[in-house]
Parts: sequence; C-alpha cells; structure tokens
Amino acid sequence: MGTSEYDFRSFYIGGEWTTPSGRERVDVTDSSTGEVMGSAPCADASDVDRAVTAASRASEGWANIPPSERAQMVSDLGDRLEARLEELAVLEAREIGTPLEESREGQVWQAADFLRALPESVDRIRWEETARTALAVRVPIGVVGAITAWNFPLQIIAAKAGAALAAGCTVVVKSSELAPLSSFIFAEEASKVLPPGVLNMVTGLGGVAGQALVEHPGVAKVSFTGSVATARRISAAAVPSLKPLSLELGGKSASIVLDDADVEAAVRGSLSNAFQGTGQVCCATTRVLVPRAQLSAAEEAAAEAIAAEWAVGPALDEGTKIGPLVSAQQQGRVRQYIDSGIAEGARLVTGGVDAPFERGHFVKPTVFSTDNYTRVAREEIFGPVVSLIPYDGGDAGALAIANDTKYGLGGAVWSSDQARARDVALRMRTGQVEINGAPWDGTAPFGGFGESGYGRENGMWGVEEFLSWRALHL
Ligand code: NAD
Repeated sequence: MGTSEYDFRSFYIGGEWTTPSGRERVDVTDSSTGEVMGSAPCADASDVDRAVTAASRASEGWANIPPSERAQMVSDLGDRLEARLEELAVLEAREIGTPLEESREGQVWQAADFLRALPESVDRIRWEETARTALAVRVPIGVVGAITAWNFPLQIIAAKAGAALAAGCTVVVKSSELAPLSSFIFAEEASKVLPPGVLNMVTGLGGVAGQALVEHPGVAKVSFTGSVATARRISAAAVPSLKPLSLELGGKSASIVLDDADVEAAVRGSLSNAFQGTGQVCCATTRVLVPRAQLSAAEEAAAEAIAAEWAVGPALDEGTKIGPLVSAQQQGRVRQYIDSGIAEGARLVTGGVDAPFERGHFVKPTVFSTDNYTRVAREEIFGPVVSLIPYDGGDAGALAIANDTKYGLGGAVWSSDQARARDVALRMRTGQVEINGAPWDGTAPFGGFGESGYGRENGMWGVEEFLSWRALHL
C-alpha cells in the first residue's frame, strides 16, 4: 500500500492530524472492479479516548457560541463540500458503487444541503420556554459519538455531526470501515471552518473503535446508523452508563398502489425509489403492493421498466443506473436472497442470480411476484431486489400487508385521489411516506418505528435529538 491518493494515515483529533496508536489498517475496494483503491487506519481504544478528551475540552467554548453563529459555521462546511462535489462524487461512486450521476446529488449535494439547512433549523427551535414560573432552557447534551453506515458515507456524517454541532455539542465521528475515505475529506474541510476539538474523526472496526466510543464515560449520547444486529450490541454496551441512543436502522418499506392509481406509473415510481443506491438504501420501497386484479399489469410494467431504464454497469460509466454493490460479501448475500426466493416459490418476473459481469460486485435488478411471507418479501436485502405483492380487501387489505413487518421506516402511496392517499399514508406504521412520487424533503424528520429504530434526524427535529432541558426556577 501507500501508492494511492486515498491512503489515509492519520485521524483528525483536537484540531490536528495525529498518528493513530492502532496498528491495524483496512483496505477499501473499488466496487466496480474489486481492486484496492485506498486504505485507512483503524482506531483503538486509546485513539478513541484521545478524541473524546479533545471533544470534552472544546465543549464549553462551543456551547457558548450562539446557535445561529454555530449553525452558520456548519453551513459553511456544506459550501466547502459542495465546492469539491465532483471529486467527492467520483470517490463515493468508486468506494460504494453509486452511479456517478446519482452520487453527485444523492451522496454529495444532499450532505452539503443537510449542513446548509441548519441555520434555518436552529432558528425554528424555541431555545427558551416558560413553565408556570420557571424558565425552561434548551442545552446541548454533551459530547456526541456518531457511528455511521457505509451506504451514504458523507450524508450520514453530515446529518449526525451537523445537527449535533448546531445543537452546541462537540462530536467524535467513527465512520464505517467499509467506506471510510470521504470522512477524511469531511474532516479536512471541517478543519478550515470549525474551532479545534469541536469535530473529531476516527475510523476503524465496529467491535473495537465503535464499541470504545459507546462505552466511553465522556460520551453523553451515541447516534448510530447501521444494522439491527449492531444496534442490539450497542444498546447492551450503553446500559452500564445509561447512555441515551438514537438508532437509524433498516427497513422493508411498502409502496401501496391503490386501485385508482395508474399502475404502470406507480410501478415505475416504486422501482425508482427501490433501486436508488443499487437498492442499498434503508428506506427503499422494496415491497410493491398492488390490487390482485392488476398484478399481471404490474409485472409487465416492472419487466418493461427494468429492460428500458435500469442499465447495469460500472459506477463511473455514463448511462449506468444500477451500479455494483459495496462489497463481494454484500453481492454474495444478495445472490443468496435471490436463490432463497426461487427456492421458496416466489415467481421470478425479471433478473436472477447470475452476476452480469465477471469483475466487480454486480447483481441484476430482480423482481419477484410473491406473497408477504417469503424471506425476499420480509427481510431487508439491501440490493436491487423488489417483491410485487398482490392484495385483496381494498385499502384496509393493503394496509394490513404494509404494516405486517417488524420494520417501519419508509413508505409510499399511489392514488389519483390525494385525500385518499393521505388517509392511507396516515395509517401506515412508518416514519415517512411519499405520496405519488413526491420529492424527498431533507428538512423533514427522518427515522423509524419498531426495528427501524428510534430518534429522528434532519431539520429542527435532528438538532433537537442533541438537546436537553435545564429548568431555572426564578
Ligand atoms: P453495521 O451495523 O454493520 O455497521 C454500522 C456501523 O456500526 C459501522 O461504523 C460499524 O463499524 C459500527 N459497528 C459495528 N459493530 C459495532 C459495535 N459492536 N459497537 C459499535 N459500533 C459498531 O451496518 P452497515 O452494514 O454499515 O449498514 C447497513 C445497515 O444500515 C442496513 O441495515 C441499513 O438499513 C442501515 N441504514 C439505516 C439508515 C437509516 O437512516 N435508518 C441509513 C443507512 C443505513
């Protein structure tokens, strides 16, 4: 190693780039070729301790800066990221496989926009309120540990660290070992706009660096994005210190096509949602529920849309809509799910288990026609695999299937009657619902029900996650 522009060697702690005490390193592969493209150091517990100590030292000074000034500094960081949009979009396309065009907006611009929305968010928060005679004052909760997933490396850091900083907290980020590279660029730009120690960044293995951050007595709250299995481990590790958590986890979201909707448009729209990031998106609508009488029209629409619109190819190629998955392991996992669907009798509408290219971590966009009881219909696959599920019994029948899941993160409703769609949306047990393919608002609260986790990110709700109350009895 040592030959790539993406070989990072130090952590950003206390305003300086410091040599890790952890000896291990991780290699990062280019998802489209499977070749090593960079590497990063792995923090050990003493690296984490140094980062938390630096964050603690910077705490009081940062909390004393007025919220609007803090938020403006964080917003400036958003501008700096956008100034490097093309470079970062290429990096993310290679690191995790998001097609370049999508990477520009979905990976980089959205991260910048989260940060730039913060001045407006802090202005909307009521920092002081009165009880009967007492004054209730919002105060930052303390040092925040932010542990992130690989599928939106920059976006998740921006959502967590940005909101915590705007709240007046100082932060230690532990980025994902599968996609750590852009977090170094995030820290580099943060170093130009934020005081030393306010944002600290390490990367490394979950069981070592992540665990050390969760257990550290100097960390007041942990904000986590990742899998349910890891969330359980983190929850257990947080028990001794009674540390509050916010958990952004997985999903198996339903797109409900009502019987008055244009079924072809609804299926196309649902696939666009489900295939973002090659299906590696927590709120992807991977279950498309259609009235039984329209199932064959929906199957036909799905097969045609995939043939016409969803070209599979290397992430940097013009025209690619479905890139590779993040890793060979993820590719193997998704292919096993496709096998399991076939074995359980789900009907393959299009796609299948064969890899479309020899190199890279590709799978074919795949659609099954099935009921809601196969593994492909129930479990989060995190790849471009969608289940078309027929329903009987009108809107109530659709809702019963939509809500028959342990998750509750995303959702969609399609109808030619806006009021009816809204009524159905309000009865879905989930954190957000898109109506008729409406664009996603990155300042709305984002989070889940059930095993999709708890807590909310984005907008003023995201900032409030990192605030507590202090009552002044006057
Ligand atoms: P993961 O749980 O494997 O890892 C997430 C992070 O946790 C990584 O940084 C990892 O190093 C760390 N970690 C692992 N073990 C740990 C431990 N014992 N203690 C502390 N930290 C530990 O998840 P992933 O594979 O990176 O991400 C995929 C999952 O994330 C999917 O389930 C997806 O749905 C979910 N996700 C959710 C959202 C959301 O906002 N709800 C967004 C993106 C991804």
